[in-house]
Amino acid sequence: MSTENTTTCRRCARPVADGAHCCTPCVHQTEENLDSIAEDVDDLDVTLTRQDRVTAPGSGRHATDEAPLPINLRASDVGHRLRNTLTTWARVIIDERGFQEPDDDLAEIARFIRGVTGWIARQEWGPECFDDIGRVAVDLARAIDTPPPMIALGTCDADDCDGELRAHPEAPWTKCPACRTAYDVAKRRDQLLARADQRRFGAARLARILTALGDRYPDGRLIIRPEKWITNRVQWGKLRPVDRDQRGRPLYRLGDARRLHDLDIQQAILKAAKSAEKETAA
Ligand SMILES: [Zn+2]
Ligand SMILES: [Zn+2]
Repeated sequence: MSTENTTTCRRCARPVADGAHCCTPCVHQTEENLDSIAEDVDDLDVTLTRQDRVTAPGSGRHATDEAPLPINLRASDVGHRLRNTLTTWARVIIDERGFQEPDDDLAEIARFIRGVTGWIARQEWGPECFDDIGRVAVDLARAIDTPPPMIALGTCDADDCDGELRAHPEAPWTKCPACRTAYDVAKRRDQLLARADQRRFGAARLARILTALGDRYPDGRLIIRPEKWITNRVQWGKLRPVDRDQRGRPLYRLGDARRLHDLDIQQAILKAAKSAEKETAA
């Protein structure tokens, strides 16, 4: 045991309260990290674990609920590291404090750890714990903000085949990895999107979905939709909420947002065509 009094934070050298190893700003930063983990973690795999077989539209009452999004927001090694980090630290806390274990749900575990950040700051292992959480929070944010290299296109339609279809967003076609049936990527993507159009999402999630579509401007730049892009359109009255989530935050239809997204691309194409015309005229 160290006999010297800790007077500065072991993470950032700011002054600390008596007996703490981490300062208040470090505690606050960790709380923000845990909040964003709890908020975002579902985006990592919720869409991909629901790659139901594509059925004819309107067949079955739950067709729209089950429609998978044709995008891949999963970064499995990020998810793995996140789970590892959170459960490891939760176990340390439970061992020392004797709390009841939280549900086996990453958002729940993140909230559980968030409830004791002040106490963690006073533990010998506190700085290491805060560092670990900071790292996985950054990884998670990156994984869901980066358009995926492959898009998920649901389960193969062939009889008795449950091959998972995947393709590069710009590939013209793809083959089922199991039975080699060929699929037109654009057609398949549109089919899935049309079915997912009824689904409702918050502004942040919607912005990520539009970005993950991997569409490009005429000059080849990837189209990134920040949350602001959505909220601006809400302010201008172009996008209206259709529902609210449990916490009262507005939800929007993916189809409505996608129409605005496509319109925006069309305008960019028109603008590019006009300026090309001007150049040839000059
Ligand atoms: Zn600090
Ligand atoms: Zn197949």
